Amino acid sequence: MSLTRRYSLSRRQFLASASALPILSAAPLRAAAPLQVVATTGMIADAALAIGGTSVAVRGLMGPGVDPHSYRQTRSDIVAMTRANLVLVHGLYLEAQMEDFFEDLRRRRNVVAVAEEIPRAELRAHATYQDKFDPHVWMDPALWTGPVSVVQRALSAAMPEAAEEIAVNAERYIATLRRLDAYAREVLLTVPEPERVLLTAHDAFGYFGRAYGFEVVGIQGISTESEAGLNRIRDLVRLLVDRRIGAVFVESSVSDRNMRALVEGAAAAGHQVRIGGELFSDAMGVPGTYEGTYPGMIDHNITIIAAALGGKVPPRGMAGLLKGSS
Ligand SMILES: [Zn+2]
Repeated sequence: MSLTRRYSLSRRQFLASASALPILSAAPLRAAAPLQVVATTGMIADAALAIGGTSVAVRGLMGPGVDPHSYRQTRSDIVAMTRANLVLVHGLYLEAQMEDFFEDLRRRRNVVAVAEEIPRAELRAHATYQDKFDPHVWMDPALWTGPVSVVQRALSAAMPEAAEEIAVNAERYIATLRRLDAYAREVLLTVPEPERVLLTAHDAFGYFGRAYGFEVVGIQGISTESEAGLNRIRDLVRLLVDRRIGAVFVESSVSDRNMRALVEGAAAAGHQVRIGGELFSDAMGVPGTYEGTYPGMIDHNITIIAAALGGKVPPRGMAGLLKGSS
C-alpha cells in the first residue's frame, strides 16, 4: 500500500514515454538546483511539473487510487513538506484529514491552496455543509485553468529568473485544457439527451455535469466519508429502472461494492445495467502512462462516459493516446 501511496513525476514521465522508471525528480538540464515542490494531489503535481519544466522537482503525495478525502500525511510526506521550497495543496476542504497539519506548516513554509482563489460564485455549494463548497473543480477543465494559473504564479514568484519559461509552459498547458473542454462539448453532445445521466460512486462529477449538461448522481455524497445506506441504494435502483439508465460507472479511488449492489438490484427488478467503465475521479492513473497525467485522466473520463452512454467517440480519445475502449 505504501508503495502506491507516494510517487513522483518526472518530466520524462509527463511526456508519456513508455519508461516506468521510478525517477524521483526531474533531471535538471540547467545548472541551478531545481525548486523542490510538493503537491498533494496528482492533478496539481501534473500542472506543477508541466509548467515548472526543468526548473522543478515535483513530488506528488497521493498516487493512483488514493482517496484525498481520507488521506493522512505519512512520516515521509511530513519530511518532504517541511523541506520543500513550495507546497501546493488543493484546499476547499478536499484534504480534510490534513487541514490541521497545513495550518501548522503555513507558519514555516510557503503553502499555496490552488483552488481557494476561485471566485465563490463559480463554486458549487456543498450538499451537506452550508459554509463549504464542492472541491472537485478539476472535473471541469475550463474551471481548472484558474487553479493552474495559481500554480504558474506561485512558481514564478519562487523563481523569477525562470518566469519566461514558466509563462510559455503555462500557456501550452492551458491550451490543452481548452482543447479538452472543446473535445468534451463535441463528444458529449452525441450522447442522446435522455441518456445524459452519470451515476457514480461518490459525488465527484458535479462540475462535470454543470459544464456539459449531465445529471449527476453519486451513491455517496461529496466526501467519501459517509456510508451509503440501504435506503439510498433502494432509491437509486428505482431511479435506474424507472429511467431505463443503461450504464453506471465505478471510480478508481472508491470501492465498487455499492455499485455492484446497484447493478444486482436493478437486475432483480428486470433491468440490465452495465458497468460503463472505471472513471478517474479523485486520483489519476498509473504514473508513466497517458492516463497518469491530468489531460489523459480527463480524456479517459470524457471518452468512456460518452461511449458507454451511446455517444460517438474517436477510438482512442481526443489525442489518440488512450489504451483502448472498454
Ligand atoms: Zn471526491
